[in-house]
Order: sequence, then structure tokens, then C-alpha cells
Amino acid sequence: MAKPVLLTVDDDPEVLRAVERDLRRRYAERFRVLRADSGAVALEALRGLKRRNDAVALLLVDQRMPQMSGVEFLEKALDLYPDAKRVLLTAYADTDAAIQAINDARINHYLLKPWDPPEEHLYPVLDDLLGDWTASFRPPFEGLRVLGTRWSPQCFAIRDFLARNQTPYQWIDVETAGQAAELRSLVEAVDAHPASLPTVLFPDGSSLTTPSISELAEKLGLRVRPEVAFYDLVIVGGGPAGLAAAVYGATEGLRTVLVEMEAPGGQAGMSSRIENYLGFPSGLSGGDLARRAVAQARRFGVEILTPQQVTGVRVEGPSRMVQLAEGTSIGCRVLLIATGVSYRKLDVPGAERLQGCGVYYGSAMTEAVSSKGEDIYIVGGANSAGQAAMYFSNYARRVVMLVRGESLSASMSQYLIDQIKKTPNISVETHSRVVEVHGQDHLEAISILCDDSRETSTVPTNMLSIFIGAEPKTDWLAGVVERDERGFILTGADLVRGGKRLGGWPLARDPYWPETSVPGIFAAGDVRHGSVKRVASGVGEGSIAVQFTHQYLSEV
Ligand SMILES: Cc1cc2nc3c(=O)[nH]c(=O)nc-3n(C[C@H](O)[C@H](O)[C@H](O)COP(=O)(O)OP(=O)(O)OC[C@H]3O[C@@H](n4cnc5c(N)ncnc54)[C@H](O)[C@@H]3O)c2cc1C
Repeated sequence: MAKPVLLTVDDDPEVLRAVERDLRRRYAERFRVLRADSGAVALEALRGLKRRNDAVALLLVDQRMPQMSGVEFLEKALDLYPDAKRVLLTAYADTDAAIQAINDARINHYLLKPWDPPEEHLYPVLDDLLGDWTASFRPPFEGLRVLGTRWSPQCFAIRDFLARNQTPYQWIDVETAGQAAELRSLVEAVDAHPASLPTVLFPDGSSLTTPSISELAEKLGLRVRPEVAFYDLVIVGGGPAGLAAAVYGATEGLRTVLVEMEAPGGQAGMSSRIENYLGFPSGLSGGDLARRAVAQARRFGVEILTPQQVTGVRVEGPSRMVQLAEGTSIGCRVLLIATGVSYRKLDVPGAERLQGCGVYYGSAMTEAVSSKGEDIYIVGGANSAGQAAMYFSNYARRVVMLVRGESLSASMSQYLIDQIKKTPNISVETHSRVVEVHGQDHLEAISILCDDSRETSTVPTNMLSIFIGAEPKTDWLAGVVERDERGFILTGADLVRGGKRLGGWPLARDPYWPETSVPGIFAAGDVRHGSVKRVASGVGEGSIAVQFTHQYLSEV
């Protein structure tokens, strides 16, 4: 395969040569560096690349060019290469235009001229962007391929697992593959019949037929078993809180293992665009955040076991013993529970039967492409539902948000409400709820009750995405740590009522702020009673919990 392209555009020949030189110096081994001296020439070059099916990773463009400005060019280039990273080169005076372009031309970054030395002002930014691009780039037919059918829950589970674990793959729907000659011959060669689906093909020529998630994880080289029997710190849950604690724990010298039952990233990993996380002015996807955090944790020596579920915990003197679903257990000095929350299930006829084949919980981003040209429905009025609506509006013909309340404003951030209002193919139906879902082997229609008119209408659709509030899954902690009536874990001051400590607290001191009713067992993030349900607060709580871990360890 030809190397992906880095295209730089500038009308000033001297600057153009300088950019090209700096790009080649660092990236020539992995990328092809091309240049153009105007927006028009660059667009023609992009059209040529598109015809040859060549990949473009980066567009690095000067803002001030005659005829076509950098922003104008980037807006046009979006149609041809929507996934290429877009960077604007600006003079100080153009900073405002550059910030505006974050929205209009969806630029990823702007760089001020001059960028010398490139090691400080150019390469760190481009390394980061090209790292992102490479992570989501899907080279044709050279990676993992999944063969299956759209309406199979098993196929959905495998695609969802691969996507959430940042494993690039090509999805081949055998029912529609016949339309493309190369896919048709592949389906024939694999001899795909219903009983053999899903089938996963690996680049080394091997394959797995109807694999379980753990078989697939093992084959992909994910670690599911611990390296040693005893750790300083065991963290249950790989969402923002768990990942932040892992990074802080490991950097501060604690032998740390993180156990995650689905995929690192947690709920945040399902977010199509997090726009309120500090330091990312144009937002970032949950997948990006998870990938960065996992890389950071691994760099500091954190062991990550996934997919692996924790099913119980017991206290043996100073040790906390954590039971794993596969039957073994791990011991530790400190246990941190960061298991977050999961979506509540929609309790209406048909919903359980059609889950995974038209009915999805959370942002089923893997389904976006399949929803092209269709009308889809989203239940819920909070930020997560709003983000999903925005994401799917890029694919679906129409996105309908069904909201029980009066309006979105009670539950959604203003920036998202504004984005939704400006998006013509999203409509919001308030005072509405789904009362039944219909379909034989996949979702075909839903019935909606309007609370104002008390009338029920049935509308055809193939996709219903549900975001109806969340609850903690902490039954495995029953009888070990104190929880509130909804299952959230009580910590710190919430364990002291009327001067009395709950749960038989055994020490003279009060529990630390993130400490549960068992000394040395901490809780952080969404699972903690009273927590603020946000990415940044999860990250903050996870980091703070490590500070208290040290305090606890200095006493035992
Ligand atoms: C679609 C969506 C969009 C969102 N967008 C935003 C946003 O834009 N900005 C914002 O600030 N917040 C956003 N949020 C909220 C934010 O993602 C959460 O507040 C945050 O992820 C909570 O982090 P956490 O680590 O506490 O828990 P979680 O993210 O819930 O992670 C918990 C992890 O624990 C794992 N786990 C659970 N039980 C076990 C077990 N027994 N064994 C092993 N592992 C287990 C789960 O699989 C999960 O991965 C969004 C949430 C969703 C769902």
C-alpha cells in the first residue's frame, strides 16, 4: 500500500519549501510529503489521490493565500478527505480567524508562524494528530476483517468490542457484500454460511468462527490474567476515574493492576465527542481519550486486564482479596472501586428481545454507517443523548429525539442544545416516550405515546438508541461495603450519621474522603454516592483517591 500523504499548501515558495523540508525530516519514513502552491492546485491533487484510493493523513495549510484562503480550502477538502487532520498555519494577526475555523472548517489545530524550532513548535502537535489519525485509519484489506450480518447481536457484540478496544477492523455484511466484486469473492472464498457467522479473519491468514469475546481478546493479545498474585493497588473499572488512579498510582511507585470487564474508557469511551474536558478546545472523542489514557498508564507499568470482571471481594486481615470471573483471585493492600454506572434498561415489550439487533444502549457508534439514509430514534434528553444525536445526524436521514420532559434545557448543556437546534435533520419530540418496540428478527417499528394528547403512534425504524439514566452495578459488594438505597457506594463523611459511623467502621479515625466503610477500600467516580457525573470529576476523584491510598498505607 502506498504511504499515506501529508499535503502542505502555501503560496509563498520559501515558506512552502521550509514546511516541506521539516515534514520530510521527521515523517518521510512513514508518510509521503506532497506540496501545492495554491488551494486550487491542492484540491486538484486531492481529487487525483482520491481516484487512486490513496490515504491522506494531514493537510497543513497557510491561511493567507490569494484566491482561496486556508480556511476556504480546508472547508472544500472536508468533502474529499473528511478524516484527514487539518492544521492551519497563521500569522499572529489571524488568530481570531483560526479560532473561528475550529467550528467552520473543523480544523484540529492552528500553528503560529514561524514554527522554529520545529522540535518545539511543530512536531509535538503533528505527532499527536498523526498518532490519532493512525489509530483510526483503516487500511483497505490489510487488517482484521469481521464477516457477519447487520441484525445479529453476536456480530454487534464483536464489532462493539473491537471498536471500544481501539482495534481497527473491516466490517463485511455478507448480505450486502454482493454489491462489491472484491467482497463478493471474499465471502465466497470464506464459504460464509449463517452458522459460521460471525467469522473474524486475521492478517496472518488465521480465523475464528463464532468466537466468544474472551477467545477474541486472547487471540488479539489482550491480557486477561494477572502477572503476579499480590499488588499494592487493584483498581476495578477502567473509566476515567480508574484510568486516572492507575496513572497516578503507578507513577507514585505502587504496583498497580486495573481490571476492566468491557473496554478501557468506560462510559466516556462511548462518547462521540467530549467538548468540556479541559485542554481540548475542539473536543475529543471518548475513544481518543481512552486510547491516550491507556497508553499513559501502560507507559508507567500499569497492568490492564481486559475483558475481565470482578465478581466479589473479601477482607483477609490487611489484604483485600478480589475475585475474578474466571475463578482466580488477586490480593492487594488497597482496592479502588471505580465501576461507574450503566444505562438503565427500557422496560417495554420487545426491548429485551431486540437488544443488539436494532435496540441499543448508549452510543452504538459502530451502527452509524448502517443507519445511512434511515430515520432513527434516540430516547433521552441528557448530554449523552444529545451527543449521539449530533453524531448520527452525520449519517441518518433524520434523527428524532424522544424526551419525556418539557424541553432539553433541564437536562442538557446549552452548547449541545444550540448545536441540535442548528442541525436540520434532528427533531425533538417532548412529552414523548416509547411504549413498545416491534420486529421479528430485528427492530422494525416503535410505538410512541404522547403524554399531551394521550395518543400512541407507531412509526417504522431500524434503530433505537436508549439513554435513560444510569445506575451502579454494585451487587457484588453487598455485605462488604455500605451503599445507599440505589447502590451507590458511601464514602467519607457520608458514613458518619449523627456522630455514629456506619458499617462497623473499626478504626479510631474517621474514613478518609474517598474511603468506604472498610479501611483500605476506596471508591471514586460515578459509582461514589454524591459524585458529580462528569469525565473531569471522575479523573479528579481517581487521582485524589491515590493520595489517600498513600495516607492509608503509611498507617498499616
Ligand atoms: C455517551 C456518553 C457521553 C458522555 N459525555 C460526557 C461529556 O461530554 N462530558 C462529561 O464530562 N461527561 C460525559 N459523560 C459522563 C462521563 O462519561 C462519566 O461521568 C464518566 O465516564 C464516569 O467515569 P467513571 O470512571 O466513574 O465510570 P465509567 O466511565 O462508568 O467506567 C466504569 C468502568 O467500570 C467497568 N466495570 C463495571 N463493573 C465492573 C466489574 N465488576 N469488573 C470490572 N469492570 C467493571 C465498566 O465496564 C466501565 O468501563 C458521558 C457519558 C456517556 C455515557
